[in-house]
Amino acid sequence: MSKTKEITTTQVTIVGGGLAGLASSIRLARKGIEVILVEKNTYPFHKVCGEYISNEALGYVKSLGVNPFDFGAVSLDRFWLTSPSGNKLELDLPLGGFGISRYTLDYELSKVAKKEGVKIWERTFVKEIQKNNELLMINDKLNEKTNNENTFLIKTSKGNIKSQIVIGSYGKRSNLDNKLQRNFSNKNFPYIGVKYHIKTDLIPSNVIALHNFWRGYCGISRIEDDKFCFCYLSHKDNLTDFKKVENIEKQLFTENPFLSKILKEAEFLYEKPEIINQISFSPKKLIEDDILMCGDSAGMITPLCGNGMAMALHSSKILSDLLLLYFENQINFNNLKSNYQKSWNKQFQLRLKAGRTVQHFFGGRTSSEFLVNTFKHVPAVARKVVSLTHGKEF
Ligand SMILES: Cc1cc2nc3c(=O)[nH]c(=O)nc-3n(C[C@H](O)[C@H](O)[C@H](O)COP(=O)(O)OP(=O)(O)OC[C@H]3O[C@@H](n4cnc5c(N)ncnc54)[C@H](O)[C@@H]3O)c2cc1C
Repeated sequence: MSKTKEITTTQVTIVGGGLAGLASSIRLARKGIEVILVEKNTYPFHKVCGEYISNEALGYVKSLGVNPFDFGAVSLDRFWLTSPSGNKLELDLPLGGFGISRYTLDYELSKVAKKEGVKIWERTFVKEIQKNNELLMINDKLNEKTNNENTFLIKTSKGNIKSQIVIGSYGKRSNLDNKLQRNFSNKNFPYIGVKYHIKTDLIPSNVIALHNFWRGYCGISRIEDDKFCFCYLSHKDNLTDFKKVENIEKQLFTENPFLSKILKEAEFLYEKPEIINQISFSPKKLIEDDILMCGDSAGMITPLCGNGMAMALHSSKILSDLLLLYFENQINFNNLKSNYQKSWNKQFQLRLKAGRTVQHFFGGRTSSEFLVNTFKHVPAVARKVVSLTHGKEF
């Protein structure tokens, strides 16, 4: 039998090894649960992300076995917001956060996961997930194995996996959304994301700056090794109009004096940026065909909130706590699903909604000007918006 025809059996399969997947895998493996994590890339690798993590996640990341400050993370506690005309607001961030690249953070977490016994299938692509695959069921019956809840067959580029539980932590957008016919997967995906690492002395090391340009905004903040992450979200119409990301930068960034100066004076460290397209912030279903979604696969907050990573980590904590109860036979699968849905809604539903609402004010010349002025004159409004889009330490 060729290797690709073999079926590997496990208790939990995690599809996607970003923060949600890695954190879940570590917590489950620590309690002796068999986990396979499938990731299409090989660690370490770069990812489009602003790389500012809200401090609400710091204690949890440390509890997983990675102290970001041991790997050069930088504290960030001040916020700058500018409109395309250069109107600027400055604000202290009450809880603050830290800056570290995904290249480093995901890599360090993957090392911990491997040490804890997680089997990581790197450079492996999940093609399809089938629940109660007929052949598996027949096979189980022949071998007199009882199947009290579900069995999943996960088809990957390196072979098939049979699993009792599947966590979908494959991020904002994947081939799997179409395969699972998720309700948002035929909707419009209006945004693209672009990331560079740069060196600059134009931004203080404790500042996260958010600069608006026409139909987009760019976040800049410090990460390890004296570098800054320079990451922007743009409406795809900019790409239609200007054809290439370099042209968007040349044509639209020059309007905002802060972005213009950075573009001229900073040292850009990649030859080419990391780019992702087809980003959408539409609501998603948390549980699809009994696959437990986690992180961005469950719902993605607009990046201007700087809170997607903390939410991905928080959802992994909620889900893995429930899965531990499930494997200790304290709750059944139906209880697990309903408790997960309840806790997730309580923690994140309002935040996602607030993020979507605030996003409307960004990227427009008049609307972002209005937002900066309102925040400047009534700082209580700015503080309220920050608190609505953030959670508490977990
Ligand atoms: C432009 C932009 C800027 C952002 N800035 C910030 C910020 O500053 N702060 C913040 O907190 N959040 C930010 N976010 C959001 C943040 O990046 C996400 O919320 C976070 O990465 C979610 O983590 P995750 O684990 O759910 O998904 P991801 O980190 O995306 O991980 C998913 C993984 O699944 C893998 N995968 C996908 N499909 C398959 C498949 N079929 N088979 C195998 N593997 C697969 C991918 O390779 C990936 O590694 C930003 C997002 C964007 C778009």
